[in-house]
Amino acid sequence: MGKITIAIDGYSSTGKSTIAKRLASTLNYIYVDTGAMYRAVTLFALNNGIINEKGEVDEDALVDKLDDVHLKFVPNKETGHSEMFLNDENVEREIRSMSVSGFVSKVAAIKEVREKLVKIQQAMGKDKGIVMDGRDIGTVVFPDAELKLFMTASPETRAARRYKELLDKGEKVTYAEVLKNVEERDRIDSTRSISPLIRAKDAIEFDNSDMGLEEQFERIYDYSQRVIVREG
Ligand code: C5P
Repeated sequence: MGKITIAIDGYSSTGKSTIAKRLASTLNYIYVDTGAMYRAVTLFALNNGIINEKGEVDEDALVDKLDDVHLKFVPNKETGHSEMFLNDENVEREIRSMSVSGFVSKVAAIKEVREKLVKIQQAMGKDKGIVMDGRDIGTVVFPDAELKLFMTASPETRAARRYKELLDKGEKVTYAEVLKNVEERDRIDSTRSISPLIRAKDAIEFDNSDMGLEEQFERIYDYSQRVIVREG
């Protein structure tokens, strides 16, 4: 049976990565979390004084230094998942912090940043057999993906999920801060001029506000099987 490309896009904290990881491991496909790549570039900008105290991103300085940003996904044998390395340092934990979340959408709106990351993503998926999640996978990175999903859920449901995740990791945040961040990222991501977050015309819209993980996985796995059989 031939391998396909699966593109999963959608709003922040809709559970894309949870479903994508499980789908990839069940199908024995590669999983790529493109949000981790934009987050790592943002961490680089924070660590190199490219974002000032007012929260402004010096775009020219970042573009000048982009060649110094080396990203790698390294599999963690214990968890079975890949972790993001920025210039050979494991930054998996740091990139999930609220400070990175607060700036990532500004960094992700920069044309040169997107061009660099999209090129890497397309190379990773050139042989298919990949599940990639993000905001522009079905529209820009793999417009010919055989299966495209667009995940949505109410902002409150999404903020509650993200809030729990951050608390479990020991981060001190309030629900209100998380809700504000989720809404603000969605606003910037959906309205930017380059590769805005929109549903690809041929993507299946999937609202999981009132759906447990098992049900979501079963349905999405089912879609994937139908497409794999159809594609032969
Ligand atoms: O998926 P995650 O929430 O970790 O993504 C963090 C941010 O990275 C998004 O809010 C968005 O600004 C940016 N992003 C993007 N395009 C992608 C993946 C993520 O612009 N393909």
